[in-house]
Amino acid sequence: MGISRRTFLKATGAGAVGLALGQLGIDLAPAQAYAAGLKTAGCKEVISICPFCSCCCNTIFSVKGGKIISVEGDPDYPVSGGGLCAKGAALLSMHVNKHRVTKPLYRAPGSAKWVEKDWAWTINRIARR
Ligand code: SF4
Repeated sequence: MGISRRTFLKATGAGAVGLALGQLGIDLAPAQAYAAGLKTAGCKEVISICPFCSCCCNTIFSVKGGKIISVEGDPDYPVSGGGLCAKGAALLSMHVNKHRVTKPLYRAPGSAKWVEKDWAWTINRIARR
């Protein structure tokens, strides 16, 4: 298993800063207590991509208890270097949104009504078309 640049920088940066501050006699307990209270504390980081344009910027989703807590750019992605444009930065609101469609909807030709379909039916329909 390889180590990513992000993981390496986190580990070495945190270690170096902690060592330097400890040498200066600075108490890190308040900072550690603050970090433990961050909304992303204890989250699993999942790499994904922004779907909005062909740049396909990498994103890092912080997930806790099966729910997305936060989305940020991936500093290891060479195109964006960790940045996201306004659309990418709004990715969280696309996922955490009561209006989000989570099941396939089908509108038959000539109909004005959308009907909920299951995935097997939908994939079959797409394949036939
Ligand atoms: S963050 Fe912006 S530039 Fe990057 S893929 Fe998404 S829409 Fe495109």
